[in-house]
Amino acid sequence: MKVGILGGGQLARMLAQAGLPLGLDFTIVDPKADACAGALGRRITAQWDDDAAVEALAACDRVTCDFENVPAKVLDALTGRTTVHPSARALAAGQDRLHEKRMFESLDIPVPSYAAVSSRPDLAEAVARIGFPAVLKTRRMGYDGKGQAVLRSDEDLEPAWQTLGGQDLILEGFVPFDFECAITVVRSASGEIRCYPLSRTVHRDGILQLALAPAPGHEDLQARAETMGRALADHLDYVGCLTLELFAVEGQLLANEFAPRVHNSAHWTIEGAQVSQFENHLRAVCGWPLGSTAARGQSLMINWIGQMPARERLLACAGLHWHDYGKSARAGRKVGHATLTEADGQGLETLMGALRPALDDQLALLLGGLMKDSA
Ligand code: AMP
Repeated sequence: MKVGILGGGQLARMLAQAGLPLGLDFTIVDPKADACAGALGRRITAQWDDDAAVEALAACDRVTCDFENVPAKVLDALTGRTTVHPSARALAAGQDRLHEKRMFESLDIPVPSYAAVSSRPDLAEAVARIGFPAVLKTRRMGYDGKGQAVLRSDEDLEPAWQTLGGQDLILEGFVPFDFECAITVVRSASGEIRCYPLSRTVHRDGILQLALAPAPGHEDLQARAETMGRALADHLDYVGCLTLELFAVEGQLLANEFAPRVHNSAHWTIEGAQVSQFENHLRAVCGWPLGSTAARGQSLMINWIGQMPARERLLACAGLHWHDYGKSARAGRKVGHATLTEADGQGLETLMGALRPALDDQLALLLGGLMKDSA
């Protein structure tokens, strides 16, 4: 079967790595000539709406995406010519933070307090209602903490408005979360849903840095997160993997946002689950039976941001799996990750302890905090 992927980043690369053993052929479209998934399939370097690229995708049996902001006109051009999962409707549902929050509320998925902001007086009014601290975000195109400003006092309003004003915005109450977590669910074309265990996530500067799964000691939250993920996937008549990012606060879960694709918080599933999110996404997209989402043990995933670390010392750590995306170094860029997997929490704890001295100071500090919290 031929699968086309819009976007050739690391998510497309890991999809192809999971799909080649399934016998799938990949066509990968990306405007960048050095897109890191390109080597794993037929690489087409072209703008998203390029006629030849659209023709090549239309000739595939299935088309999927490695990012959510696919221009609607590309999806329209493919509609009726091939099968596209996730659908244009599912992608659109996550493209505007205001509509996304309203959709969550309609599905009884709790969200932080929020207000739409499209003018300076709106901002003052929203702050008066929501209070400090709050987070001002662009409604569209924001990711990894980009297009956001934290407001702590009246003095922060004008600088934030100068940076973000002039586009549609949303103000959210800053959630004093106990921790962040994420649930990935996969839904088949026939409507069967399977849920992965919750990942406990740690961000730095808005970028995911660590994920620990199954989130230790939070079995009670798993059921609630599953209910939310199922409601969302059913509502969107979704096919493939989606991830719901959540704040855990005083025993409650509040939804931050969802991603209509495979997601960084579930990269641990490559080694740590019976069937990875990448394989299950492809199984769903191809109309095949889903695989088990059960964990094989306990896993920790560490993102490499900016540049790959020296590998020798890290590879010497027991139980460590290495993923180099083959991308050039750039500040804030996700260039690779590593996963530690062990049969049980105690074993993983020992591995994490042995790994810490091999990490840079900031990462070692974050990992230390996570280990302490989850002990
Ligand atoms: P986002 O781009 O919305 O996924 O935000 C990136 C990260 O910023 C989140 O994972 C949180 O760590 C933080 N963040 C975003 N929104 C809020 C909020 N309303 N309250 C507290 N932290 C937030």
